[in-house]
Amino acid sequence: MHYFEYKDNELWCEEVPVKAIAREVGTPFYLYSARTFTRHFNAYRDAFKKRPHLVAYAVKSNSNLAVLNLLAGLGAGADIVSGGELFRALEAGIPAERIVYSGVGKTRDEITAALEAGILLFNVESPGELEVISEIARKMDKRARISFRVNPDVDPKTHPYISTGLSKNKFGLSMDQAFDAYLRASRDSALEVVGIDCHIGSQLTDISPFKDAFDRIKLLVNRLESEGIRLSHIDIGGGLGIRYNDEDPPLPEDYARPILEAMEDMPHTLIVEPGRSISGNAGILVTSVLYTKTTDTKEFYVVDAAMNDLARPSLYQAYHDIQPVEKKARGTATVDIVGPICETGDFLARDRAVQELRPGELLAVMSAGAYGFTMSSNYNSRPRAAEVMVRDDRFQVVRERETYRDLIKGEHIL
Ligand SMILES: *Cc1c(COP(=O)(O)O)cnc(C)c1O
Repeated sequence: MHYFEYKDNELWCEEVPVKAIAREVGTPFYLYSARTFTRHFNAYRDAFKKRPHLVAYAVKSNSNLAVLNLLAGLGAGADIVSGGELFRALEAGIPAERIVYSGVGKTRDEITAALEAGILLFNVESPGELEVISEIARKMDKRARISFRVNPDVDPKTHPYISTGLSKNKFGLSMDQAFDAYLRASRDSALEVVGIDCHIGSQLTDISPFKDAFDRIKLLVNRLESEGIRLSHIDIGGGLGIRYNDEDPPLPEDYARPILEAMEDMPHTLIVEPGRSISGNAGILVTSVLYTKTTDTKEFYVVDAAMNDLARPSLYQAYHDIQPVEKKARGTATVDIVGPICETGDFLARDRAVQELRPGELLAVMSAGAYGFTMSSNYNSRPRAAEVMVRDDRFQVVRERETYRDLIKGEHIL
């Protein structure tokens, strides 16, 4: 569900025509719907309202300050994976006690900053990391709250680059490793063992892997209890998929049901770390056609957005629905929609049937709110796109388009 809809054959975001924004801001730009973010966040809140829980939004999916601030106001926490994301989350007003910190490569500086801020907990991913956190906490005269990220070894059946819960992936500890690590951590006075965490992958469209992962975690929770180690938090990660094309992903309430059932007799606070399912369909990328071009075998629409703006098609062969901002009574063309970058991999869509378009006309790349702007780069010295947010009948630039000056910021000639 989202609030990008056609009225009289023109694409609107909530109460604002997309074309009007393009006229003022130029293209390409990311466009976010505050109402859609709110709806998606509230779906999680409602799904889990029967028990103590925290929705820790995965900042890496879309980390714009306006997005984080909007979610903070709705009661969201944050799942962060870097010191930069910690900084953003705090700047946006997400309280430290609602922040969980995941990731396999936390540096000493990042750990120190997180301890100083007083985050809810670290999701620890290796024995080496545990030692470093303990050492730093002791030096700071603090107790670090920790969970271990376990790897339940279930196959999420998603793209291999975004599956994380298999034993061959770099994430987390195996169940046996984790058990030993819990015993060690529980004897360490600089650590407070509070929870257990997993995150098995992204864009999952089936509930059963979540349920399998939860069952395995529950076994370990029970085994730890028999050793006298009582946890207060269980974190089941993120990963719920969205509709890009013809997927039929479960709703947060369908996803919640088996977890709530399995936790009926458990007192733990549940943490979820959704990213894509909150931000994905809350954003689009708006781009203009620069040229239409025909070769012997193909027709191309060259547009002003490229793989540096939206990497997912090139990186994961991901499908994004592409729609004209104005629907016209014209034929359909089957085209490759490509950007200006000097790489054959620079495409937004291949062999796609779209309404015939002319230079200067606008396209909307749908479902681009997650892993869109956050994965964008300056490749080919392209300034990163503007980000705009609509709320009801108003829009605001929430990140200015980069300038050429921004491109060389911090560079020095020898
Ligand atoms: C990326 C990530 C998430 C969010 O995943 P989505 O598929 O966007 O919901 C949650 N937790 C961790 C640890 C992650 O790395």
